[in-house]
Amino acid sequence: MNASRATRDGRGVLVDRFGRVVRSLRLSVTDRCNLRCQYCMPEGQIPWFSKDRILTFEEIERVARILASLGVTEIRLTGGEPLLRQDLPVLARMLSGIEAIEDLALTTNGLLLEEMAGPLVQAGVRRFNVHLDSLEPAGFAAISRRGGLSRVLAGLRELEKLGAIPVKINVVLVRGVNDDQIERFVDLALRRPYQVRFIEMMPLGGGEPFETDRLVPGREVKQRIEAIHRLTPVGRDRPSAPANVYRLQEGVGDIGFINPVTEPFCGDCDRIRLTADGKIRNCLFARAETDLAALLREGGSDEDIAKALQADVAAKGPGGCLDLNQFYRDRLPRKMWQIGG
Ligand code: SAM
Repeated sequence: MNASRATRDGRGVLVDRFGRVVRSLRLSVTDRCNLRCQYCMPEGQIPWFSKDRILTFEEIERVARILASLGVTEIRLTGGEPLLRQDLPVLARMLSGIEAIEDLALTTNGLLLEEMAGPLVQAGVRRFNVHLDSLEPAGFAAISRRGGLSRVLAGLRELEKLGAIPVKINVVLVRGVNDDQIERFVDLALRRPYQVRFIEMMPLGGGEPFETDRLVPGREVKQRIEAIHRLTPVGRDRPSAPANVYRLQEGVGDIGFINPVTEPFCGDCDRIRLTADGKIRNCLFARAETDLAALLREGGSDEDIAKALQADVAAKGPGGCLDLNQFYRDRLPRKMWQIGG
């Protein structure tokens, strides 16, 4: 329908059959992680991608340039844990140097942030999302199956020192595991320039097989907060932003709700995903993916790659695909840490 919309260099933009235009790339740079969050990863033996399958910086930059020529303006580095990718600031500099890329962001668990934040900011990373599920050391260790809360907090302080604020903090709630932390996180947002976002746990089936009763609906979290604080609606940062944001009357920071399960926001999706092993996915829950690594490594031209990207996006489903029963029955073959959250 909108396939004729052109970018500056004459290529069509990436548009699906529902008219959604792709502007944002979630770029996974590794499948490795230094946490084993219960809802995300298993504790035991993990079938990591072999090293030769992981895209090189040059391959990633090439795909990013082609995507930029197709209208993508924002890149978010993710993983796995992106800070485990060696020389990440070198890649960040390559990506922030692409003219059409206006926004380079990072999602991290924050364990290595204290030492990495400075080099990343220098390399052009402007926005940081830090994942943190508990403000209590034992609770942090329990949900992540590893320690390290003090390192994450040091990373947050470093971001503040660097002026990389407001920092977004992503909290995934699991009933009976960390839902006792809601008020503590609100207290944090009262005191610090953070946007604390409560995220509904999605049934991605990577870690513990949590049942639907472990989901804490965003509406319930909001009611709990409103029982003690006044929340003023701010709305979404932009129409495609996943978080619905509220200002805390007396606070420095904000509260956001990301409710992919109870209030899916697929209608405004502008994202595409590139996995660390070079597969393009038009949705977190896509059942098919395009093997870009094969094209890159077997001599595909930029035009071939652009066509493959356009075909992948054209095949994007309507979304609203979070049918919990369906997902509990039929677990996805590729898990969150192998896609890039
Ligand atoms: N390692 C980085 C991190 O921890 O943020 C980036 C990758 S991680 C997969 C990205 C985000 O996905 C984190 O905020 C994590 O909590 C979230 N996540 C992982 N599994 C999830 C699930 N089943 N439901 C909702 N969010 C999930």
